[in-house]
Amino acid sequence: MTKKAVFLDRDGTIIVDYGYVHKPSQVELLPGIIEALVTLKKLDFELIIISNQSGIGRGYFTKKDVDLVNAHLQSLLKAHGIELSGIYYCPHSPDDRCDCRKPKPALILQALKDHGIDPKHSYFVGDKWTDVQAAIRAGVPPVLLSKEHTISMNTIPVLIVDSLLEWTKLIDQGDM
Ligand SMILES: [Mg+2]
Ligand SMILES: [Zn+2]
Repeated sequence: MTKKAVFLDRDGTIIVDYGYVHKPSQVELLPGIIEALVTLKKLDFELIIISNQSGIGRGYFTKKDVDLVNAHLQSLLKAHGIELSGIYYCPHSPDDRCDCRKPKPALILQALKDHGIDPKHSYFVGDKWTDVQAAIRAGVPPVLLSKEHTISMNTIPVLIVDSLLEWTKLIDQGDM
């Protein structure tokens, strides 16, 4: 059977983006996230986080901090029966010119390979244009979360919705 996934940005997509979230106490799920992720699991999507954590490369916090935040997030989700298949993050600052910081697609490509996932039956949901670019480069259909539905930075068709929950309702109804 084809394995499919919803790749998810973390900050601003699953949890509130307070800017360089680095403590478990700062982890706050966005409204509707539990319902959205439960729906995606019901539809047989694996859930994989792809996140830029340049605060590490900038010296604001450590990998350990990020791992603790991620572990806390996972425990919040697990309380609702939601298991993530993986969390991938780039620890570099933009100055490092690495291959893994979104909009580069390396982390998505790695996750596709690690989990044997078909990109064409998968989605990437994020709140920044760099998420969309990374998704397109990895061959995964992008979904952009934005209140502004008139983003015209490109000629590429991108689905824009208000929230992860709004989008999951669309796919649950078979509207996509
Ligand atoms: Mg984000
Ligand atoms: Zn990187």
